[in-house]
Amino acid sequence: MPPDTSDNQEVILQGIPASQGIAYGQLFVYIQSDVEIPSYNVDPEKRIDEVARFDQALVSTRQQIAKIQAEVEKNIGAEEARIFDAHLMVLEDQALTSEVIREFEKTGNNIETCFNRVSQRYVQAFTEIDDEYLRERASDIRDVAQRVLQNLLGQAENSLSRLADKRIVVANDISPSDSASIDRSAALAVVTDSGSKTSHAVIVARSMKVPAIVGMRDLSARARNGQWAIVDGYEGVVILNPSESTLFRYGKIQAQKKTLEGRLLEANREPAVTLDGERVTLLANIEKVDEVGLVNDYNADGVGLFRTEYLYLNSARMPSESEQTVAYRKVAESLAPKPVIIRSLDLGGDKPMSGSPHLFPKEDNPFMGFRAIRFCLEHTDIFKDQLRAILAASAHGKIRLMYPMISGAEELARANAILAECKDELRARGTPFDEKMEVGAMIEIPSAATTSDILATQCDFFSIGTNDLIQYLLAIDRVNDRIAHLYEPTHPAVLRTLRHVVEQAHQQKVPVSICGEMGGDPVLVPLLLGLGVDSLSMTPPLIPAVRYLVRAMKLADARKLAAKALKLTDAKEIYALCTEFYRERVRVE
Ligand code: PEP
Ligand code: MG
Repeated sequence: MPPDTSDNQEVILQGIPASQGIAYGQLFVYIQSDVEIPSYNVDPEKRIDEVARFDQALVSTRQQIAKIQAEVEKNIGAEEARIFDAHLMVLEDQALTSEVIREFEKTGNNIETCFNRVSQRYVQAFTEIDDEYLRERASDIRDVAQRVLQNLLGQAENSLSRLADKRIVVANDISPSDSASIDRSAALAVVTDSGSKTSHAVIVARSMKVPAIVGMRDLSARARNGQWAIVDGYEGVVILNPSESTLFRYGKIQAQKKTLEGRLLEANREPAVTLDGERVTLLANIEKVDEVGLVNDYNADGVGLFRTEYLYLNSARMPSESEQTVAYRKVAESLAPKPVIIRSLDLGGDKPMSGSPHLFPKEDNPFMGFRAIRFCLEHTDIFKDQLRAILAASAHGKIRLMYPMISGAEELARANAILAECKDELRARGTPFDEKMEVGAMIEIPSAATTSDILATQCDFFSIGTNDLIQYLLAIDRVNDRIAHLYEPTHPAVLRTLRHVVEQAHQQKVPVSICGEMGGDPVLVPLLLGLGVDSLSMTPPLIPAVRYLVRAMKLADARKLAAKALKLTDAKEIYALCTEFYRERVRVE
């Protein structure tokens, strides 16, 4: 039975942390109710006015969306603002508006009724399409339709834009336009039943620097308006009706976090050198060209993972070779002489390219399916465009290339052979490139880890993708919140695999980096360094905490920690050991 959330008992609920921070306040439970639509017939003489009313509602809706889009672009970013292009396109859709007018002329029903009927038919049709991208358009149409109806009925914006007081917003889910209109001065935190860490509500919460939690299942149905709660965005915990002692504990945690954050930022200009004098390379994971600024802001030593698929994901077509050259060159030039590791396409799996559904047929098991290097080796034209672009950009900075999802020597050899062809083509064209550009393999499939001795003879470096490696080693779907608790980075199988890869690589003088989330977790960093990992790559805002820890520990102690951890059999025990190591070094009074 789920815990009773209605009385005054303290109830602790676990979700998925999505934006850091701690908030305490009263809940505002946001119910997305559909607009109530009156139905009547329009006097034939007033039909022209009715159509004019419809036109006016479309104009107002367009203005509102454009305003939201401009706000999102200013406060969050151009990329995120682009989602509203899809909404504006719904409004521009002549087929939809003409069908509404036809419906009106045929039935004589009021325009709200006609519009609702037609838009629902559209939503239904899109929902049934066997293509994820087009299915998602259904929610765009629903979102825009609600707004048009509100305008037709003269109803104000939704209640999220006018929170009476400072509140923790709880909702089943929050649509893009709802999340953009959240009252920024009054939202203390955002908590949703569904959604993922990359949902729009979360992006908005991060930009507002308020805590957010997703995956709370049915909290919005069980919580009451005005109920007091703590939202812990670090741990993904919501505490309803917190007791005095819980409040006291959280008050202390909040103060500690603030002190620590200040200290971390202060120390972030210092080099990442351990107390026993070992320099640790800290690299950044980026997804977009305009994130190069963050690499410098957070004082990273370069880019350890540039996830290039984001150049493709939001696009209706494959980016051309020259478009890609411009993008990669910009990153390389802005960061030179710092190295930039560009990962070749990792589309498929959880990242299908929405604009080209024909290239990614629906699969029952996408994580084990047609993704990344498998896709590239089959679509060599797309792969070669990217490789030539990376090579051409390599003349303008320090670029390294790495292949994702390598499962064994044969695949790596095939990828390298295609790269050699691309080099010949550029030589023939007279396009300069770095003849010594280093090439690496991601180790994120167990078969690559076990054959790492062979792979090390075929490349210059390894980067371990722990996100996928753990998912495949432990057979835990990394995006399934039901089994998220079983996803354990400190599982002995993970430690043994990491040790094996590092040993095999080092025997052949091949350096090893970690670019999965594990590499940016300060609690796990000593274990990784103790296992012999040479560099760590993480999302830029995590660098200060990792640097602080590195500067507070000795590599010799980390090696002892790893040796001890390798003797243990229980993931939780190993995690506890790492936590103890961390706490002894990063004390916050
Ligand atoms: C990984 O798998 O650890 C990784 C860094 O790649 P991605 O998360 O993009 O799959
Ligand atoms: Mg991966």
